[in-house]
Amino acid sequence: MPGSAQNEPFAPGLYLVATPIGNLEDITLRALRVLGSVDRIACEDTRQTQKLLNHFSIATPTVSYHLHNEGPRAEELIAQLKQGARIAVVSDAGTPGIADPGAQIVAEAIAAGVAIYPVPGANAAISALVASGLSTEQFIFHGFLPAKAGQRKTALESLTRTGATHIFYEAPHRIIETLADIEVVFAASQHIVIARELTKLHEEFLRGPVSEVRNQLAARPAIRGEIVLLFAPETSNGATQQTRSIAQDVAVLMQSENISEKDALKRVARERGIGKSEAYRELQREQSRKH
Ligand code: SAM
Repeated sequence: MPGSAQNEPFAPGLYLVATPIGNLEDITLRALRVLGSVDRIACEDTRQTQKLLNHFSIATPTVSYHLHNEGPRAEELIAQLKQGARIAVVSDAGTPGIADPGAQIVAEAIAAGVAIYPVPGANAAISALVASGLSTEQFIFHGFLPAKAGQRKTALESLTRTGATHIFYEAPHRIIETLADIEVVFAASQHIVIARELTKLHEEFLRGPVSEVRNQLAARPAIRGEIVLLFAPETSNGATQQTRSIAQDVAVLMQSENISEKDALKRVARERGIGKSEAYRELQREQSRKH
């Protein structure tokens, strides 16, 4: 087993340990063994992690490792790792490094020649995706959308429309505004999924046209809890772009906007997030299949 054979001491190195995103039963047996045996646990918030450690009667010393001390603390931890320490990194919930601190110490540990051991477990984005009913074949994780309205709209406008599922973390006090932006940038009928309070008592999935989900949430006295938002952008006629050919999109644009084939192709390439020459080659392939 990487890091140790069962019941043998863990090898020196950096252990990235996932912790539950709500339900404490989601801790893994290996995570408990690693957290109980390492020399130190570097935590995003030591008080938060202490609750988890107390619950499982783990007495390993903790040290804080968060956004504001990531640089200097990483340096200190790397020095200990180089001397053979076994250090675990955890965030408040879920997988460290995913919209949470962790990436910097991993990069520095690799550069210092320290062994890295992932200890997988809960993650909100993947849990939401697999239960969303949306395509899991291709997905793009964006973390949090920008809080400022203008930047958020620009981020939404730049999403690829290739049929891939886009996954976002969103704060409950911003979700209504974000859904309104999706309605403007895409369509009121854009199918979306909201996964709220995953693995917790009030776990909830809302699936449907963005306008309906927005109205449903807006009618509540308060929107609480942790949220993952997912959708695969649709074209104006409601079909995901993946199901329409490039030739069809080019023809629609040439007619509706009275522009040349070259300009239409440029637009289609941009909207699909692919290069102009790739779009041109695909258009030629589609045309040759027709003849
Ligand atoms: N590292 C974590 C992970 O692996 O999922 C994510 C940390 S990020 C700072 C916190 C955000 O993740 C929340 O604001 C929410 O968008 C999402 N999240 C975390 N737990 C969740 C849950 N139980 N249900 C829904 N979303 C959750």
